Amino acid sequence: MVKNQPTNLPPVGEVDIPALKIKYQQERDKRLRQMGSEQYIESKGDFSRSYEVDPYSPIKSRAPVTGQTDVVILGAGYSGMAAAIQLKKAGIDDFYNIDHAGDFGGVWYWNRFPGLQCDNDAYCYMPLLEETGFVPSKKYTDGHEISRHCQLIADQFGLYEKALFHTLIETLRWDDAIKRWRVGTNRGDDIKARFVVLAMGPINKPKLPGIPGIRDFKGKTFHTARWDYDYTGGERKNPVLDKLADKKVAIIGTGATAVQVIPYLGKYAKQLYVIQRTPSCVDERNNAPTDADWFKSLKPGWQQERIRNFHRAGMERLDPGEPDLVVDIWTEISRNLSAEFDEIGWPTSMEEFMARRDVMDFQVMERLRKRVDQIVEDKETAEALKPYYRFMCKRPCSSDAYYPTFNRPNVKLIDVSETRGLERMTENGFVHDGAEYEIDCMIFASGYEVTSGLRRRWGIDIIEGREGLSIYDYWDDGFQTLHGMMACEFPNLFFTGYTQGGVNATTTATFLAQGEHIGYIVSEALKRGATVVEPSQAAQDAWISHVRETAVDMSEFARECTPSYFFNEGERKHRFIFGDNYGPGFYAFEQILEQWRGDGQMAGLVLDESQ
Ligand code: NDP
Repeated sequence: MVKNQPTNLPPVGEVDIPALKIKYQQERDKRLRQMGSEQYIESKGDFSRSYEVDPYSPIKSRAPVTGQTDVVILGAGYSGMAAAIQLKKAGIDDFYNIDHAGDFGGVWYWNRFPGLQCDNDAYCYMPLLEETGFVPSKKYTDGHEISRHCQLIADQFGLYEKALFHTLIETLRWDDAIKRWRVGTNRGDDIKARFVVLAMGPINKPKLPGIPGIRDFKGKTFHTARWDYDYTGGERKNPVLDKLADKKVAIIGTGATAVQVIPYLGKYAKQLYVIQRTPSCVDERNNAPTDADWFKSLKPGWQQERIRNFHRAGMERLDPGEPDLVVDIWTEISRNLSAEFDEIGWPTSMEEFMARRDVMDFQVMERLRKRVDQIVEDKETAEALKPYYRFMCKRPCSSDAYYPTFNRPNVKLIDVSETRGLERMTENGFVHDGAEYEIDCMIFASGYEVTSGLRRRWGIDIIEGREGLSIYDYWDDGFQTLHGMMACEFPNLFFTGYTQGGVNATTTATFLAQGEHIGYIVSEALKRGATVVEPSQAAQDAWISHVRETAVDMSEFARECTPSYFFNEGERKHRFIFGDNYGPGFYAFEQILEQWRGDGQMAGLVLDESQ
């Protein structure tokens, strides 16, 4: 039997759980903002390198596309590529990937900031490793390598031929006369697509912090998703930010992005201010190059097995004898529990398991707080950097360079938790605690439109199904789908993402599974000569009821969490990234879909063969 190795935890007796619960609540309450997601402003206009502009590759002129196609896929990131690859595998070649970026890659195209790496085990995260023969160079691999991987996949699967880059879809209208979607773009295209797949990914649009005076600042600004190496010096494969040597720089945000960027800014800027509202929890990285012999020794099917193992350890639970293959911060709680239960015996009930898991959560977070004390020399700074919330209230991070950066004499932490965010920006800098700090540059590591209204998040003005019905109105009171992927009144339209379906701990696995299902439906429809495929009302209603009946109630956990996009910035509305997903889990959902496809009945879908 495999024995998992626990981390070096503070003993239960040394963790004052009742006191911590009170502290967690206080830390949450002081950050909660009435405005919730509305506090953020859109990344557009000329005061910041705006989301609409591509600073990395020139826009090529082209004639508008006006013909017919089987499928338009909105998106050329991993989710759009997953849909495209699965369509190809299902025998569909006539489709476009449309994206406002200049190449394949999605977030891995746009994000080029110094230090960018995948925070997840690359052997899980990077899709199709067995099929493509691609070997990640390390466990947490670099952003530019992932971007290259996207391009290699696109090449290998022949996706470039019909990709339309630097193109924003503005309108999607179902045209019942021709039983197709009319796809209108900012390049004058009017494509008549039989099917449309929305695959824009969850973090496609940068957002900016709602700081009073943000537009008054006269210095340099940019969002981390549009890094300006002309200004900082260096380039993404060699981020020597030497042009910052005489610059006072501030960075706002201390999430997963900032944790990767800050060590570089600290190293190169004359002065760095790190503006923090909520600290991340940051474990050691333990990154390592891929062991070529180990990689060669992996047996066919290894990637799916590893993804399943990561999912169980990260989002479900390990069973007795089940190894933790990934061994990182994401899987620590499961690994530690497994090690402990091997010693003292495994719980006989779910209640007993969950009670012990709760305590383990406090122990792990206490370990992470102690880590700050061990590294950060200034006591006040160390205290401010400690995460007082439960594991997974915010996305966990890992870095060996983050905390040591705060020991540098040119780096100052500005804790803005008491004012629920930065007080104000001025012409010359920012104001905090009664003092004005002059800066040359403000970098926004302020995240993405994950929890804002759908229209703003998706950036498509019009999505109209039958009779001009807008998807934004149709879903105003909550999502309504069959299997999270199709909706009544919106024939031949597919959604991807985390809603009313199974979510895998490896996002790319979720996308591939959705792509496979979409590929099946499209190819079956075309084979059967159907022009319209739409869920029946009864099937959709039944699915929604099933999702609600089997939902795992996270409301208590969410109520106790510090605000973040994981839990809708503290708002109650059920419109957040992981809201309304399939409670029994990803693999249970997969089984439902496999059986559904297996019996070949297309149950719950109405197929129209009239044209
Ligand atoms: P986040 O949304 O996680 O972080 C935004 C940061 O901005 C938070 O620290 C937030 O504080 C802060 N902030 C916002 N408004 C204000 C304000 N008014 N005053 C002060 N601070 C403010 O964005 P990230 O870009 O860091 O990460 C987004 C996601 O991108 C990740 O969760 C992950 O999914 C992905 N990512 C993935 C990586 C990978 O390895 N695969 C690497 C990096 C990012 P507060 O927390 O208090 O709201």
